[in-house]
Amino acid sequence: MKKKQLTTAAGIPVDDNQTSLTAGERGPTLLQDHYLLEKLAHFNRERIPERVVHAKAAGAHGVFTVTQDITKFTKAKLFSKVGKKTEVLGRFSTVAGEKGSADTVRDVRGFALKFYTEEGNWDMVGNNTPTFFIRDAMKFPDFIHTQKRDPQTNVKADTPQWDFWSQVPESLHQVTILFSDRGIPAGIPYMNGYGSHTYSFINAKNERYWVKFHFKTRQGIKCLMQDQADKLAGVDADYHTHQLFDAIENGDYPSWTFSVQIMPELDAENYRWNPFDLTKVWPHGDYPLIEVGVLEMNKNPQNYFAEIEQAAFSPGNVVPGISFSPCKMLQARVVSYADAHRYRLGVNYEQLPVNCPHAAKAANYERDGKMRFGDNGGASVNYEPNSFDGPVADKKYAEPPLKISGDAARYEQKRGVDDDYVQPGNLYRLMPGDEQQRLVENIARSLRNVPKEIQDKMVEHFGRADKAYGKGVARELKKK
Ligand code: NDP
Repeated sequence: MKKKQLTTAAGIPVDDNQTSLTAGERGPTLLQDHYLLEKLAHFNRERIPERVVHAKAAGAHGVFTVTQDITKFTKAKLFSKVGKKTEVLGRFSTVAGEKGSADTVRDVRGFALKFYTEEGNWDMVGNNTPTFFIRDAMKFPDFIHTQKRDPQTNVKADTPQWDFWSQVPESLHQVTILFSDRGIPAGIPYMNGYGSHTYSFINAKNERYWVKFHFKTRQGIKCLMQDQADKLAGVDADYHTHQLFDAIENGDYPSWTFSVQIMPELDAENYRWNPFDLTKVWPHGDYPLIEVGVLEMNKNPQNYFAEIEQAAFSPGNVVPGISFSPCKMLQARVVSYADAHRYRLGVNYEQLPVNCPHAAKAANYERDGKMRFGDNGGASVNYEPNSFDGPVADKKYAEPPLKISGDAARYEQKRGVDDDYVQPGNLYRLMPGDEQQRLVENIARSLRNVPKEIQDKMVEHFGRADKAYGKGVARELKKK
């Protein structure tokens, strides 16, 4: 069989890909060997900026199928009829570690989905936890610094995170989840995904509901014990990455049941929790899960960089029928994610094949910029208003107005002195005894390495969530 001709990036046939052009057999290399220069220069530029968070990930393609009718809550076309299928891209990551870090660390996992709907891409950019450590984005860069390497030693340390958490009690709920068994999933197929924030659904009558998204694993929750995870981190650092790839390659497609919790718009005013506080869940007893459909991941990427590294998810990408809420963290993420992608991939990142809408087509007046792909709008008009058949906005997509009142100021949320302790306590109390014991052991393993006054503050916080929780951590800290 005739082999394909090797060419330069400009398509010019190459005569030799093994030896450089030199002046004589032992002589120096000639500058005119432009293919050698191109090859080396391109190699030097192979890396793009690593994501500050969620750098290490596995990803796959899949399909979402609607199984129940929720059209009374949302007009989003992907939910328009039972049986409807939508293509999906999924990216599942750890948060704190670098691109080459081990998969089996104790960390929150990113659970990001891009639904290629007929009205543009819906990015459901969630985590495997229903909550987060903080509820105000002003704290985010500081919190993430506590998860990263020490500025002097370049080593990860326990003190910064506990120092931070001990002074930010709203983090206690997420800390309890992180140090529970679910803090180290046995694999991507064995964890749940959550939208975490409250979003809104808008139906055909233009009525708003508040909504939380839940993707429950159909493989069952499975977790790694700390010692198993530590061992795997050494001998098989990419354990979760190849486990997902191998499962899909073998036809063993992981799937999740997608459900929603729905809150009528006006309930938010008087609900016992602030429903937009990302450190809280809506208890199932108050707002039960309503099943919507099934997500199945069934196709591996052909090229990791093109399809997963270059994938750019943004909570700002919502489609008609889905929208935001006043959650302060969500408001910041809507801005931050797109901003991060512009830095990482360039201003035209939405035109990369993996980020392009499939059924829908982008039509607007954005032009030019670095790495502009395609025809750049061709000869079509590039301003509005115009008299030349350019794309126009349609008021039918306008959301119902959201009633807001209050004075502009910086507010720290205070709703009751025990507000930040009740839900972590509920979580502790629903764990069986052996899991409670592993929780306090996992905490003590890390908390043991920090100054005593920080340990004491944390024991007090755990004790306020549940007396036995505080006592358990204190007991474990005494063991050497
Ligand atoms: P429910 O009894 O109705 O719900 C309990 C939930 O806890 C279930 O969804 C279960 O998930 C989950 N769960 C069990 N063990 C753990 C664990 N080790 N780490 C994290 N989640 C776990 O009670 P509530 O709705 O009142 O919630 C009680 C507590 O459960 C909350 O304070 C919160 O910490 C946690 N939780 C609540 C969720 C919610 O949306 N209400 C979602 C996830 C957790 P599963 O069924 O998959 O086993």
